[in-house]
Amino acid sequence: MNVHDRMRKELQKGHIFQKALAHALEYLEELPDREVFPSSAHLTLLNEFDEELPEDGGSGEAILEKLHEYGSPNTVAQGGGRYYGFVNGGIVPAALAARILTDFWDQNAGLYLTSPIASKLEEVTERWMVELLGLPKGSVMGLVTGTTTATMLGIASARYDILRRQGWDVNSKGLFGAPAIRVVISEGAHSSVIRALIFLGLGSDNIELVPADSQGRLDPTRLPPLDSNTLLILQAGNVNTGAFDDFQNLCDTANRAGAWVHIDGAFGLWGAASSRKHLTAGIEKADSWSVDGHKTLNTPYDLGIVLCRNQGSLVSALETSGAYLHLGEKRDGMRLVAEMSRRARSIDLWSTLRFLGRRGVAELVDELCNLAEYMASLLTENGFEVLNEVVFNQVLFISDTEESTRQLLERVQQSGKLWFGSTVWKAKYAIRVSVCSWYTNREDIERSVEVIKALR
Ligand SMILES: *Cc1c(COP(=O)(O)O)cnc(C)c1O
Repeated sequence: MNVHDRMRKELQKGHIFQKALAHALEYLEELPDREVFPSSAHLTLLNEFDEELPEDGGSGEAILEKLHEYGSPNTVAQGGGRYYGFVNGGIVPAALAARILTDFWDQNAGLYLTSPIASKLEEVTERWMVELLGLPKGSVMGLVTGTTTATMLGIASARYDILRRQGWDVNSKGLFGAPAIRVVISEGAHSSVIRALIFLGLGSDNIELVPADSQGRLDPTRLPPLDSNTLLILQAGNVNTGAFDDFQNLCDTANRAGAWVHIDGAFGLWGAASSRKHLTAGIEKADSWSVDGHKTLNTPYDLGIVLCRNQGSLVSALETSGAYLHLGEKRDGMRLVAEMSRRARSIDLWSTLRFLGRRGVAELVDELCNLAEYMASLLTENGFEVLNEVVFNQVLFISDTEESTRQLLERVQQSGKLWFGSTVWKAKYAIRVSVCSWYTNREDIERSVEVIKALR
């Protein structure tokens, strides 16, 4: 049978999809009790994938069997309640279900003409996002893979606009011989910000680095004088401490100078939609923002969001012509991002927000923060030192010595019962906890602290 007939046959019978769903549901059922990181016995199963590309492929059913048998045990159980690594969110069930349905649609979200539904939901979620985060009316949104790319687009808009104001069209002339752009960021900025600056030709050596305070917030007393050639990048949610910059004052200073402000709010920008919105006060005075769906909001991967106050800055930065451009009547999502073809992330965002509602978003964010505080208080009670002020969902802690902290982390990671990562904070090796899955509850926190005590 030729490959086209093989594919048609699988599509007609449809049972491989039922098989996929059956495996998926089995995985889901076992998720809460799965080892959080694969054991070494499971990891050796990955060798099963070391095969030559076969001359003749296999059936869809055999492929699913192989994935389920050797792949499922080698996943990281980050939706299971006791995964606290990096800042990795869980997944809202309604959004996962919507994802399954809409994967069958196989949409290209580049243009209105390639997917009216993706285009419509991008329009709707843009309005919802702006309202939910309290951003200026008329701000536009682009959907990308993650905050790294979203930040890159925010910086691209800034670069375009700062140079345009000086009569320099960066799209046609490039950066060679262009007026200098000053880039001011805090010592506490995320590494992805520096990557984005590098990609855009602004260079890491040109950065004016402002010292940060004990929590990783930009120290306003050390801010250099700003001017209209300056891009100031602030942060909502430091990846170690969860701390937020002082947006009110910093944005006022930047606005008076005519500087462009971008806020990296990968996980923290959602604070604006919660009862902790005092942390994000003043974000509406910035010019662009980047935030993830797949962290705090628990959307499926991969979903990054760039928002820009001025439609013309973002759209023009991404065009080949240097004209100051506006969008047409029908929304072509590709004009707000760097890609042409891409999957329909607007559906993931829409289904998540539509399920949670305004109140649900607030409850979700609040609970992550409350649980982080709970974790910190139990750790302190049990004689560990918490290094940060826990204002959001991040907790840093250490054991008695660096050696015992390292040992503890290693044992925890091998236990399969929970998972933390490490970081270096103010020259101290520390364990970093991120409470980022909606599925985590108080019992998970208590069980986790019991395991830590036993492994100490
Ligand atoms: C995670 C994170 C990023 C990068 O986001 P991705 O979605 O992984 O690209 C940027 N900034 C901060 C503060 C983060 O926590």
